[in-house]
Amino acid sequence: MGAERLHGVLAVDGPSGTGKSTVARRLARELNAAYLDTGSMYRAVTLAVLRAGRSPEAPEAADVALDASIEVGTDPSAPSILLGGEDVAEEIRGEAVTTSVSAVSAYPQVRRRLVELQRSIIAEQLGKGPGGIVVEGRDIGTVVAPSAPLKVYLTASAEVRATRRGGQDRRAGRSVDPDATLLAVRRRDELDSGRAESPLRPAKDAVTLDTSKLDVTAVLARLHDLASERGLVEREVAG
Ligand code: C5P
Repeated sequence: MGAERLHGVLAVDGPSGTGKSTVARRLARELNAAYLDTGSMYRAVTLAVLRAGRSPEAPEAADVALDASIEVGTDPSAPSILLGGEDVAEEIRGEAVTTSVSAVSAYPQVRRRLVELQRSIIAEQLGKGPGGIVVEGRDIGTVVAPSAPLKVYLTASAEVRATRRGGQDRRAGRSVDPDATLLAVRRRDELDSGRAESPLRPAKDAVTLDTSKLDVTAVLARLHDLASERGLVEREVAG
């Protein structure tokens, strides 16, 4: 059996805790594709705002976020995110950034800058060929890559998502208060769905998948099937 290879852009959107990151990253590995975690970019510029001592709600926050120097790696086996050359992969998952990221990502000028950067990373990957890219976020199918040949929108109940988020935090050694996690998940949903600039919503042509009762393997299998059905997966003949 030869290796499989994805062609084009596979957009994976949805709120936090739907299994997006795990599934997008694994799918990219299975399909020998690149992987872009756009949430890590919003998180890194938010960290820059916090390190500068700015409130995410203060207008200067957008200027700090615009000036932040970030670099994101697209290897699904070792995704990386640098802020000013420093590896901040762990710090951006902490509570301080998680609480503030929605406010920073609501600034239209911040979104414009990061969307431009995301599009250039995607174009570079597709230009290199062969092989595609799995891109995950909130506005990939609607704004970043509206002509992606496959857009998937993952959902799950807020309770299931909060439980998953709590599990991730626990495994990463962060303390967990289940009620606070559920409140935080709901608050971030409201902010991400309610913002004026590219709010979280499925693209009209996205396939929506409720992952509440599915494990990672099942979601992965469904996405893999969808990509194959659309003719986006090429099997390379070994030898
Ligand atoms: O996916 P993750 O939870 O890391 O995303 C963190 C935050 O970044 C989201 O809650 C959202 O506010 C913002 N985000 C966004 N657009 C994206 C990806 C993330 O606004 N494409």
